[in-house]
Amino acid sequence: FLKGKRALVTGSTSGIGLAIARAMYAEGAEVILSGFGSDEEIAALSAEMNARHVAADLMTAAGVEALMSGAGEVDILVNNAGMQHVAPVDEFPVDKWDAIVALNLSAVFHACRLAVPGMKARGWGRIISTASAHSLVASPFKAPYVATKHAVAGFTKSLALELATSGVTANCISPGYVWTALIENQIPDTMKTRNLSREAVINDVLLAKQPTKKFVQPDEVAALAVFLCRPEAGNMTGANISMDGGWTAE
Ligand code: NAD
Repeated sequence: FLKGKRALVTGSTSGIGLAIARAMYAEGAEVILSGFGSDEEIAALSAEMNARHVAADLMTAAGVEALMSGAGEVDILVNNAGMQHVAPVDEFPVDKWDAIVALNLSAVFHACRLAVPGMKARGWGRIISTASAHSLVASPFKAPYVATKHAVAGFTKSLALELATSGVTANCISPGYVWTALIENQIPDTMKTRNLSREAVINDVLLAKQPTKKFVQPDEVAALAVFLCRPEAGNMTGANISMDGGWTAE
């Protein structure tokens, strides 16, 4: 049902974004890939989805501008690239704070401001941002991540209101813990910060949050992103939809 629609998915060389790109491609969308990876990986993903990859570092406004001009007009924008770093506030590396704000928050603003005019002109668009359970609740040692994810949910509400009569919707998806590189990479720092074994971090810190005791699967998040593109989702806008194994129900 997405034939004729162009979908740009940021952070689509890995994890959740890759699953979303594959799901949109399976529904017939023309997919534009974005994110880092080896030349071989990117060539393989581009071939698999008959997709263009636009190389850009989204840490700066200029980087996002390069991505958007390389992608061309997009009907579906999935703001998914994001990063995490785990440390106490008083020890948080300042450059990491700046990087997390730039990628998790400012890049969402820049991509939206550049995608919206074309969507409005065509009278149809879908903006989907991967927020997080951390857009609703906090955990210690993740202050900039929690701050930027709350901010993305607020930004999305404001944008949705601005676009309410335009045929363009803007929503967030808020997963709990999904087993991806982002989670795997934070395990060593969490082991250090909390003085725990790897197993204890997985079971007593990560899965402790999720009453289902299961990681969310990237494919499950992708199915929700596809649903948000359906005609039946035309009245869903400004929402922040949880898929977190019950985490934020507690
Ligand atoms: P991931 O690390 O597997 O993928 C991140 C993607 O972003 C990769 O494609 C990477 O190349 C790209 N990227 C990173 N820095 C970039 C930069 N400077 N410029 C351009 N692209 C860049 O992570 P993931 O777990 O799939 O996370 C995707 C999104 O989902 C993030 O916004 C993350 O915060 C969010 N999220 C993840 C989880 C989880 O448990 N994994 C839970 C909730 C929300």
